[in-house]
Amino acid sequence: MKLIIASNNEGKIKEYKEILELFGYDVISQKEAGIDIEIPETGTSYRENALLKAEGIYKLTKTAVLSDDSGLSIDFLNGGPGLYSARFKSELSQKEKNQYILNEMKDTDNRNAKFVCSICFIFENGEKIEVQGICPGKISRKIEGERGFGYDPIFIPDGYDKTFSDIGQEEKNKISHRAIAIKELIEKLKNKN
Ligand code: IMP
Repeated sequence: MKLIIASNNEGKIKEYKEILELFGYDVISQKEAGIDIEIPETGTSYRENALLKAEGIYKLTKTAVLSDDSGLSIDFLNGGPGLYSARFKSELSQKEKNQYILNEMKDTDNRNAKFVCSICFIFENGEKIEVQGICPGKISRKIEGERGFGYDPIFIPDGYDKTFSDIGQEEKNKISHRAIAIKELIEKLKNKN
């Protein structure tokens, strides 16, 4: 069965491909499916954005589709950058964005934050599975580590004393918001078979 990942992010596609091929899916990217549209993320939640992207591509192809939406929500910034994590301060490099957040938060001890990932999976017959993974943690006092991507160098997951950058990819893949959402998706896919 063919499954389109509604993304052109190589890293994401690789991660999903490795897992979902085990379920017998022939996983292809949006680009490989010949779809070069960018579906605007106009929803008011991660869930809605994931749904919009999956539905948009399903309508065009009538093929099974998986899409996700994720971001970092910081209490002190009223939940920001949140849904706008990818678009936040687009004039800055990622390192500058991380430093900007640390500067905004330099005088506060309110450092609670969470990474969220919503996944929407639509089967070929139009049936849907929606799951969400949340990884709670804290914003560090300084940039720590270079590995990973995005906000990894400033996020310390609960139960650890290091950032996502410093704990490394293997450990991150066990506890991240994306890992939690994928685990739940797998459980639901297993129950279908
Ligand atoms: P999207 O899910 O592709 O829309 O991207 C969401 C944005 O949230 C990314 O561009 C990153 O800035 C941020 N983000 C999501 N997940 C992670 C993560 O695991 N580590 C660091 N940043 C992340």
